[in-house]
Amino acid sequence: MWCGDDQSPEGKIGGYSRCPICLERIRNVAFLNPCFHRFCFVCILEWSERKAECPLCNTFLCLPGI
Ligand SMILES: [Zn+2]
Ligand SMILES: [Zn+2]
Repeated sequence: MWCGDDQSPEGKIGGYSRCPICLERIRNVAFLNPCFHRFCFVCILEWSERKAECPLCNTFLCLPGI
């Protein structure tokens, strides 16, 4: 399950975050469940079509029916 949160002010936690997938500034941040790593929504969406694991910690993702 993603928790899209694109209404939060960017950079409120230690400056802006880089997406580990595209290495760009995160747009439309998505938090993974249950590990809470952060990625662009679109990046993790594409990733999840290939692997149901977090790119950072390999936690199995519980994918919603998207
Ligand atoms: Zn990204
Ligand atoms: Zn993770």
